[in-house]
Amino acid sequence: MQPSLEKLRKYFRLEYDNGYQDRAIIGGLVKLLDLWPADARNESVPEEILQAVAACLRGYHDLTPEARAEALKTLWKQIQGQTTTRRESQPDAPPAASAEPAAAAPGQTIQPAPARQERPAVQPSRPASPPRAEKGRADLHPGGRTSQTPIALNASLTVLAGIGQSHARDLARLGLRTLGDMLYYFPRRYDDYSQLKPIHRLNYGDEVTVIGTVQTVTSRPVRAGAVSIVEVVIQDGTGGLRLTWFNQPWLANRLHGGDSISVSGKIDQYLGRLVMNSPDWEPVEVENLHTNRIVPIYPLTANVAQKWLRARLREVVSYWSPKLSDHLPESIRSSAELLNLKTALLQVHFPDNQESLRAARQRLAFDEIFFLQMGVLRQKRDWQAADARVFAAPDDWLEARIGSLPFALTGAQGRAVADIRKDLASGKPMNRLLQGDVGSGKTVVAALAAAIVTEAGAPSTRTSQAAIMAPTSILAEQHFRNLSQLLAGEGRFGVESVRLLLGDTPESEKETIRAGLADGSIKVVIGTHALLEDPVTFADLQLTVIDEQHRFGVEQRAALRSKATNPHLLVMTATPIPRSLALTVYGDLDLSVMDEMPPGRQEIETHVLTPRERERAYSLIRSQVAEGRQVFVIYPLIEESEKSDLLAATAEQARLQQEIFPNLKVGLLHGRLRPDEKDAVMLRFREGEFHVLVSTTVVEVGVDIPNATVMLIEGADRFGLAQLHQLRGRVGRGAAQSYCLLVPTHEDAVENERLTAMAETNDGFVLAERDLEQRGPGEFLGTRQSGYAGLRMASLSDVRMIEKARLQAQALFERDPDLQMPENQLLADALGRFWGNGKGDVS
Ligand code: ADP
Ligand code: MG
Repeated sequence: MQPSLEKLRKYFRLEYDNGYQDRAIIGGLVKLLDLWPADARNESVPEEILQAVAACLRGYHDLTPEARAEALKTLWKQIQGQTTTRRESQPDAPPAASAEPAAAAPGQTIQPAPARQERPAVQPSRPASPPRAEKGRADLHPGGRTSQTPIALNASLTVLAGIGQSHARDLARLGLRTLGDMLYYFPRRYDDYSQLKPIHRLNYGDEVTVIGTVQTVTSRPVRAGAVSIVEVVIQDGTGGLRLTWFNQPWLANRLHGGDSISVSGKIDQYLGRLVMNSPDWEPVEVENLHTNRIVPIYPLTANVAQKWLRARLREVVSYWSPKLSDHLPESIRSSAELLNLKTALLQVHFPDNQESLRAARQRLAFDEIFFLQMGVLRQKRDWQAADARVFAAPDDWLEARIGSLPFALTGAQGRAVADIRKDLASGKPMNRLLQGDVGSGKTVVAALAAAIVTEAGAPSTRTSQAAIMAPTSILAEQHFRNLSQLLAGEGRFGVESVRLLLGDTPESEKETIRAGLADGSIKVVIGTHALLEDPVTFADLQLTVIDEQHRFGVEQRAALRSKATNPHLLVMTATPIPRSLALTVYGDLDLSVMDEMPPGRQEIETHVLTPRERERAYSLIRSQVAEGRQVFVIYPLIEESEKSDLLAATAEQARLQQEIFPNLKVGLLHGRLRPDEKDAVMLRFREGEFHVLVSTTVVEVGVDIPNATVMLIEGADRFGLAQLHQLRGRVGRGAAQSYCLLVPTHEDAVENERLTAMAETNDGFVLAERDLEQRGPGEFLGTRQSGYAGLRMASLSDVRMIEKARLQAQALFERDPDLQMPENQLLADALGRFWGNGKGDVS
């Protein structure tokens, strides 16, 4: 026995001697977990044991002495069981946690692995014989206790009969390393073969399962032996059906007259008769795993065949899911009307029918959203636990400030400012998402927030500062110009206290700015990623504003926040998110929605043109330019590679310049330019140097060029709705009538739903709802992080399910925020696994 296990036994013995008072070690047995696991791991104690010990000791202190005695006894039995069964060869071993380590560690004496053969990479067409009697197998499982499931789920796949090192490596490429991974490896789709049909009712094109008795088997070479054909005729009493397989000559020896087989596939036609080509088949006496049911189809990789993987999953799922303890407390399960976990996992892999498949998916999706919500609620609570400085803006000051703006605030802007004002005065850090459609006027709201923090609410002895970060230089400059006007002015602080910091700001100026930020003489800084650089420090940063937040990674947002202690945070986004989704994805943030445009905007006219009608677009462009307006022409990502993409845009710019608009100046903007080169092109465009700007989607974000009135989008069918809407938002920012022209790649894409939707409405929220229905949530999530990778089953467009999970999570969070009640222990563990180590700053 390894020394670490000996040590364990010693402590258990001591506990016994002390009457299980948890005094064998100072601080209780749980203290063992500080050092013991590392030692044990060094001595190659199997991971399963490590897990079991950890699980047992963690909850040990909370048990009664009787329960402690029981727990240690069971644990010890299990340890013994595992160390002995490992030595027993089990040629037909069930997928039990007989936990053979993945590789024998050097210096450790381990019996050679039970003789087992790697299956050939190419699977024979007969399925690996599926497990039959599931009953009785559990007895082989050492201990056979249901409470050990999490341990077993961590067992490596090599504990399965038929999976050796090389298969384990193949499976690892699919992310399958443990039994638990297998249980949660969901089918990509299903083929429904559960509709059995008698042969005389078959129709051409049917995808069916047919059961019949083999009548004849013939095998013959064709094309001078280059190809072989096996032909089988089966009968089911209503008629005969001819089956054909190419190049599988061995089938002739497998199938014999009189055999009952079940075949699944598509009904084809040959010389006027119905046939099946290369159907899946199996003898009917074995469990109908591949045919005659709803068959799961799994994602595959090299050397992993569908049938083989399905058989492995069948073993794992049917053996292990019944042993799982459900992490969702019964109370939640019944009030949300959910299947239990065992059934859900069984049914999601091998559904009995469509109805139970649906119920299984519901349950598993619920788990994901529920976990997501629990994480988000915790995050929010943690944020709210911190204190922040109070900034109280007096009424008369704020009125005067708003009164001096060049325009009256819209109702939505007013509400957003009121929300922010309340947050800043609350003494808790603000964590607010300001969501407003393109052009709804978010900048001025941010400016007022900055004014409250830097001018008004602050006690006069304090020198609080605000930082505003934008994703591109051109946007930062745009904000800088606007904010300088709004913030600096008579009776307020001077121009010197609002500064712009970009990557290519000259070094000497950077130094001045850094010094000003460090000594507090600069009140407001606007910039790009340059703000995050190490040498930038703040005397007293109290507000950080992040514009177009989806453009920033989690780390960057965290980096800006870390320049201060508990700063108030305002993130802004122009990506409209339906409320249901916002509550899920941004549930940790408070939400202000600006769903109202400043007055005087004209609706952008949107038209869908066929490629042949392009000339109409060109003449509109000519006439707009004649009126002094400017034009965007956008090209989609045509190929995967940036290079061919660049070629397309370059070629198009040349074509437009030379053939279509020889008298106009046509500029070019694409993703391969350096950031400063891009900004230079945009500046020249804004200054009117080009009439037409040909671009890839790099202009998508935030830029304000009020003189641009035409947005022509080529290959429009290739874009998502959210993106089309963003692009359209580049025009219509001035008072003049603007146009958005959508030209799809093919004539027949004119009826494309997204394009029609674009032509129907300018409302970003309406479009976002549609996009969510059509394409799921990918577009909205952007770089948002950890928990979302865990969404494999949940569709964020299932609003009712989201709402259900959210309410349940909220209720539970109110009862037991840290999941400390005994009935929530399994849930606490599962939640930990869901969030993994990826607990990031989700702002
Ligand atoms: P976005 O929400 O897309 O960031 P901006 O803040 O850039 O929008 O505002 C778009 C334009 O609308 C700017 O030119 C801004 O000056 C103007 N604007 C903002 N608020 C109002 C308002 N209440 N009335 C009139 N114009 C406004
Ligand atoms: Mg903006």
